[in-house]
Amino acid sequence: MVMNDSMKSKTASGAQDARVAPRRPQAETVVKGGPMNAEQVLNRLMEGNKRYMEGELGQKDVKGKRESSLQGQKPFATVVACSDSRVEPVYVFDCNIEELFCIQTAGNILDDIARETIEYAVAHLHTPVVMILGHSRCGAVTAVYQGAAQKELPSIAAKIEPAISNVERTGDEDKDVVNCATANAKAVMKELMGKSEIVRNAVEKGETKLVGAMYHLEDGRVDVLQ
Ligand SMILES: [Zn+2]
Repeated sequence: MVMNDSMKSKTASGAQDARVAPRRPQAETVVKGGPMNAEQVLNRLMEGNKRYMEGELGQKDVKGKRESSLQGQKPFATVVACSDSRVEPVYVFDCNIEELFCIQTAGNILDDIARETIEYAVAHLHTPVVMILGHSRCGAVTAVYQGAAQKELPSIAAKIEPAISNVERTGDEDKDVVNCATANAKAVMKELMGKSEIVRNAVEKGETKLVGAMYHLEDGRVDVLQ
């Protein structure tokens, strides 16, 4: 059989396709069965956190996700976390790109821009969960706890100070900072509900669930606050 030009180009193009688009492995984080509700999202996050704690992260098809999400994003959770480089929500919950919509500020506190960023995720991306994630050994919280932040970080201190003023001081700084970070996360939740009509309406209608959580640097564990 003589190969004509048209067949040649078909063969070349086919070979090229095979080279640039190898069969992709099944990613563990592919959402199956459509959108998840808040409970399913929280289960998913906690399962990911368990893998993270064990240091056994699931295989991810990052390239496939990058390509499949070009037309838009559908994250399943909005996470407000600290900017601390030891707190990486995508790792902490063993997620892929496009799965978490993250806002990170020192002390996981909110200003107008952070609040509006959350509102965008709630109103337009419809994430079933908004999580305020505090963490142990938080530098911002510790600095305020020690009275050292008020001069250098006045805006941050002004947010955290009232939130932790009633937290009992045991003398055990690590423990106190966890308690202060917990109180701070709860204060951020309260502030968000008070100041954001969009979030408040979505929570009241059951469209999104606002949860507080604490990440422990020591073992990687995340506890959902009750
Ligand atoms: Zn921190």
